[in-house]
Amino acid sequence: MIDEFALIRRYFADRGMSRRDVVLGIGDDAALLAVPAGCELVATVDTLVAGVHFPEATAPHAIGWKALAVNLSDLAAMGAEPAWFTLALTLPNADAAWLTAFSAGLFAIAQQHQAQLVGGDTTRGPLSITIQALGFAPAGGALRRSGARPGDVIYVTGTLGDAALALRGILGTGAVTADEQVQLARRLDYPQPRIATGLALRGVASAAIDLSDGLAADLGHVLAASGVGACIDPARIPLSAPVARYTGRSADFSCVLAGGDDYELCFTVPEARVAMLEATLAGVDGGLCPIGVIEAAPGLRCRARDGAVHELAPAGYRHF
Ligand code: ADP
Ligand code: MG
Repeated sequence: MIDEFALIRRYFADRGMSRRDVVLGIGDDAALLAVPAGCELVATVDTLVAGVHFPEATAPHAIGWKALAVNLSDLAAMGAEPAWFTLALTLPNADAAWLTAFSAGLFAIAQQHQAQLVGGDTTRGPLSITIQALGFAPAGGALRRSGARPGDVIYVTGTLGDAALALRGILGTGAVTADEQVQLARRLDYPQPRIATGLALRGVASAAIDLSDGLAADLGHVLAASGVGACIDPARIPLSAPVARYTGRSADFSCVLAGGDDYELCFTVPEARVAMLEATLAGVDGGLCPIGVIEAAPGLRCRARDGAVHELAPAGYRHF
């Protein structure tokens, strides 16, 4: 059995990026990081627990990818540029094949976003992965949840509901073909943090959040933080072909409105900046689509096909 320090050296130290702003990385009691002048440090942390955040059978390569992806998604929602991350890894045992695949997935996405692993902690126990991602944004320039105002247009990136529908397939309650399941599972296992979109939204969006717990719940957080309400048009929410086919035949929109794990961005833009936004963001990441409007009256409303408006309950995944 490999010891803790050999494990860190073999799988995590001196791999991936070597950034100039890392004064001191893995190997000391803490890392020393140089935040660029005029910037604020943006810090976020997320834990993935086996059986809660990913099915036990998930490939270790996907677990490594997703553990960092969900954190980078939070940085994207803040309009931050990723720079560094730390990794607290709890493992039932030091399985070489598992660690090789996990670290390959982790460093693949780290490389894609120029994020350097600068420290961590390694312990034995039930599988759980905690990553803290650190980035920066110009002082005062980060995006927040609190800036949405009545009249602002609500946008989402990419397509919604893919990951939630994939999870239903894995749990045996899905209703898609085997090919569709493969396509959907890719979205569940390999979320793409919308970093480029987040950066482009600085100075443009009035509020932003990333979609981890479902559109209704997460847009609800923006509305609460901003002291406003909204009306969305579910027919305008962008859907992948498998999700469009599924919702078309079942009329069940719950995976789109209340599914989790989308890791797309939801943001608001004042009417006056909409033209600028669509010009700047054409072709960036997974595209973007207007789905509704911020209103003064609190609450989240939905416009049905017949034009009737009804209140939407803020359903979403909650741990407690
Ligand atoms: P300490 O006892 O001072 O907390 P550790 O013995 O836990 O330090 O870790 C030794 C070094 O290895 C530290 O620099 C720490 O940040 C790093 N490290 C430990 N585990 C990991 C990991 N899973 N990934 C990256 N770096 C790690
Ligand atoms: Mg120490």
